[in-house]
Amino acid sequence: MTTERVLQDLIRIDSQNPPGNERAVVDFISALCRSHDLAHQVVTTGEGRANIVIRLAPELPDRIVLLGHLDVVQADPKRWDHDPFGAEIVDGFLYGRGALDMKYFVAVAMQTLIALKPREANLNRGITAVFTADEEAGSSFGLPKLLEDPALRDELRGRAVLNEGGGFAYRSGGRWYSLIETGQKTVCRLRVTVAERPGTNPYFPTMTHEAILADATEAVQSAELPHRMPNTAQTLVSRILGGGHDLSTPAGADAVVAHLNERGDRFLSGLVHAMTHSMITPTVVRGGARHPDLQDGIKATVDFDCRLLPGITRDEFLDAVDRALADLEVEREILSFSEGYDGPGSSPVFAAAEAAIRRHDGEIAAAVPFLTPGANDGKYLRPLGCEVIGFAPLDRSQPFEDVIGRIHGDNERISLSGLEFCRRVIGDVCERYVEGRDNE
Ligand SMILES: [Zn+2]
Repeated sequence: MTTERVLQDLIRIDSQNPPGNERAVVDFISALCRSHDLAHQVVTTGEGRANIVIRLAPELPDRIVLLGHLDVVQADPKRWDHDPFGAEIVDGFLYGRGALDMKYFVAVAMQTLIALKPREANLNRGITAVFTADEEAGSSFGLPKLLEDPALRDELRGRAVLNEGGGFAYRSGGRWYSLIETGQKTVCRLRVTVAERPGTNPYFPTMTHEAILADATEAVQSAELPHRMPNTAQTLVSRILGGGHDLSTPAGADAVVAHLNERGDRFLSGLVHAMTHSMITPTVVRGGARHPDLQDGIKATVDFDCRLLPGITRDEFLDAVDRALADLEVEREILSFSEGYDGPGSSPVFAAAEAAIRRHDGEIAAAVPFLTPGANDGKYLRPLGCEVIGFAPLDRSQPFEDVIGRIHGDNERISLSGLEFCRRVIGDVCERYVEGRDNE
């Protein structure tokens, strides 16, 4: 089966989360493993929720890890030009929910394992592919559950991991780069609640509660957070702009952002801005006398989506919020806190990825690390000492700015040449790794 066909079959299994239904995807992948005699293990984590671990050369101690998730976000067919679960091919693009996030990488990983299977007995190292449930909705049925198994934890400990989220082409200053994800911002959801104040008379409503809400919203947004600049930002800017740009201070970072804007690099300037600033955005505001979601005694709430620089701890964040809210009669609560990280912009696996992408596309001048403003399952492997990179490379027919606009968006699609490029590059990285010549 071609990579294209595997991807089409994967997309046609609706795994929108909620409810996920990854079990059906796992059944399809298990059948593929059985027909190619690949060792695999299914881990059921709930009704209709399943994960699968596949191993090439299972007995070998040294292994590279391919990480993927099998669920997709919701798609509203009314907003699409093609059936989101039809996997139609039009003008060189394959359309469907999961085409980019991230069933294409699962299809590529399967093709890689199948291609290397006949040589399994003669390899020096192995591959472990981990395809999980529930990545799009908090991973409760996914990777953290799998990692409760001490044997799997030991198997994954300290490994190089290829994951979603990067390996995308970007053109800047007349040269092409491949942007590889090496870290993530911290993603936090914070709620501020205004309780009913004594003496409020519903016959004479005042704006008191809403006024407090507005003040609290402004105060949280201007909370003074610690500012530790990620190394990744400096590395990215040095590789693309050369020396002479100091990103150690917010002012230095802002000067680089302005410079990138001036030269028309709007996408990169946005990325550098996101990588060098903590951002706090009010997203859900509830208020007013008859709001159906507010409990008795609660007059207003505001939820914030916070994308913090990696390294800011939960306590530091709460301290800053508390200082900002000190004069206001409100409560605050952290709804979720997913700690990010600032990985090194160089590592053996980063070097192997860069070498492979340049072997397959001579126009790529260099690989450049970046931090994603989002979060993915990679963060669960960092505490095990894994070197996780977002590297599911696509070719120049679908550059970074196009990819980002379609992930979780309408008309998600992958270029067929990009899919083939990914298969060749990932196949190359994995082949060299299992043959023990990854650093040549
Ligand atoms: Zn994803």
